[in-house]
Amino acid sequence: TGCLYLVGTPIGNLEDMSVRALRILKEADIIAAEDTRNTKKLCNYFDIATPLISYHEHNIEVGGEKLLAFLREGKTVALVSDAGLPCISDPGADIVEKAIEQDFPVVPVPGPNAAISALIASGLTPQPFFFYGFLNRGKKERRQQLEQLKKRQETILFYEAPHRLKETLKDMEFILGNRRIVLARELTKKFEEFLRGTLAEAVEWSQTEEIRGEFCIVLEGNENTEEENDEQAYWMTMSIVEHVD
Ligand code: SAM
Repeated sequence: TGCLYLVGTPIGNLEDMSVRALRILKEADIIAAEDTRNTKKLCNYFDIATPLISYHEHNIEVGGEKLLAFLREGKTVALVSDAGLPCISDPGADIVEKAIEQDFPVVPVPGPNAAISALIASGLTPQPFFFYGFLNRGKKERRQQLEQLKKRQETILFYEAPHRLKETLKDMEFILGNRRIVLARELTKKFEEFLRGTLAEAVEWSQTEEIRGEFCIVLEGNENTEEENDEQAYWMTMSIVEHVD
């Protein structure tokens, strides 16, 4: 019977491809990819000859129907996105729901994820955490979304495009007030770096810097006790730590 595998792929460093993920991609009847050109490069690098078909947010209906047809024919479908885990701020959730409805097994093949990688190295409280993903692009909607997050006590994880980071940080400071923040840039890549400091410092930094690369935002929750406020002194000078493997 057909089976849908959800396969994690690297978020930058190809060495993060798991042995199991490679085997599943090689053995699958078809790889459904967010961007076939992108995944073709990954497949070439790892000598994977499995046929590719595209499945992205603009063909969720038609693409999804094709994938379900493969599953009904008893085929194995491996779903990948451009980077990291499918379904996490990436296409996948729709086909997962439909595959489950039609009683096909859905099997996760874990792999890299930008938000969790940022969280574990952030130094902020790792749990409980709240994964938000992308905020809305519109200023008004974004501010409304932040307003709803104001009282959350969990560490909050965001994705953001580099060209929107400056505005997003400003809105965060405006709505949420000053708190600790960690910007994780270019995770697993050559110029990976962590900017750890306060939101006010991050806003200041973003004014002067030309912002390039991929970013995850890890933001402290609203849980400041007296004790924690004292502890903050340690964070007050924004530190930048670069690391190359
Ligand atoms: N599915 C992916 C995952 O599991 O992490 C996330 C895909 S989402 C469309 C892309 C966003 O993830 C980027 O805008 C950025 O915020 C974050 N991201 C992806 N790769 C990253 C990296 N190497 N370093 C920092 N952030 C990254």
